[in-house]
Amino acid sequence: MAILEGEFKGLVPKKVLVTGGAGFIGSYLCEKLVQMGNDVICCDNYFTGQKDHIRGLLDRPNFELLRHDITFPLYVEVDEIYNLACPASPIHYQFDPVQTTKTCVHGAINMLGLAKRVKARIFQASTSEVYGDPEVHPQKEDYWGWVNPIGPRSCYDEGKRCAETLFFDYQRQHDLEIKVGRIFNTYGPRMHPNDGRVVSNFIMQALSSKPITVYGNGEQTRSFCYVDDLIEGCLKFMDSSKEFAGPVNLGNPDEITIYELAEKIIQMTNSGSQIVFKPLPQNDPRRRRPDITLAREKLGWEPRIGLDKGLKKTIDYFEELIRERRVYGI
Ligand code: NAD
Ligand code: UDP
Repeated sequence: MAILEGEFKGLVPKKVLVTGGAGFIGSYLCEKLVQMGNDVICCDNYFTGQKDHIRGLLDRPNFELLRHDITFPLYVEVDEIYNLACPASPIHYQFDPVQTTKTCVHGAINMLGLAKRVKARIFQASTSEVYGDPEVHPQKEDYWGWVNPIGPRSCYDEGKRCAETLFFDYQRQHDLEIKVGRIFNTYGPRMHPNDGRVVSNFIMQALSSKPITVYGNGEQTRSFCYVDDLIEGCLKFMDSSKEFAGPVNLGNPDEITIYELAEKIIQMTNSGSQIVFKPLPQNDPRRRRPDITLAREKLGWEPRIGLDKGLKKTIDYFEELIRERRVYGI
């Protein structure tokens, strides 16, 4: 087996499966893993992902693309699995909620079964949504959450919670090497322009001089992590000791209200858009901010890219999309 030179000198390349690899976060992960010299299999059913995101990797000898839905078994031989397949934005995961739960639960069972058979280490892209509308602030990993089991967000929230249960049961029952990362709101270029998420919505609205739609009174908060920081956290977590399975929060603890975010984006885009208020969606969490003490201690990781810098890169990306007319329906 080759040992790598240059930036990644000393690393032993691995065979790595990334499910949801054509999605927003997955495509960056594939890029980084390929760049590090690993043999990468990207598996995606293109529900929300796009081939365009990984087009630059298609002619790389250490990259392979599979159209596959993880609710069906997959037979490949790999050393590591990153399980990212799942729509992440509320409008996408609520489009077919039964399929969302299947992806979370059947998908996890299939990927855990694969990991067990080939003795692979497996990372689960869990979410801050496991905390629901939290009564504890900021959220620490030992908080069990406050989640509605029967609401419109439940297919995702409870699906991801059940996936976490499965991961820890496979660890206890089969001694599987698991890594459960709870990802908080992540943003950056390649977000879907019409995914309804707040960063993409506000930027697209600002750039096309449409009203900025703040839901509720805009006092709810989120904490936004730039995608490059998140990828670094996921890689460090995968490389951490077997004993550290998580769950660990991966996010940026800088908290902002949604109204402040709207104002910031208007100002950064020099937009003439007005802010308008729309009804708050059901079960919309009021506050969200990760406590990342555990990630700092165990992984030596914390985000480095501030909101202004990350938003600038994201705005540049959406400007290019609009300029090249690669966006419909706005
Ligand atoms: P995304 O929608 O851009 O990517 C998800 C990818 O999974 C897409 O390419 C989609 O086509 C694919 N997919 C969906 N169902 C599938 C299935 N059944 N089989 C195979 N592929 C399937 O979302 P993202 O923002 O890149 O999120 C990636 C992961 O991170 C998700 O698991 C999500 O729950 C988690 N996460 C994301 C955020 C965030 O803010 N983006 C926050 C918390 C957790
Ligand atoms: N939001 C908003 N206007 C929009 C889209 C979202 O005010 O056009 C709000 C939404 O109600 C929530 C926050 O922004 O309070 C983040 O929403 P998003 O869908 O991005 O992520 P999530 O709720 O899953 O954190």
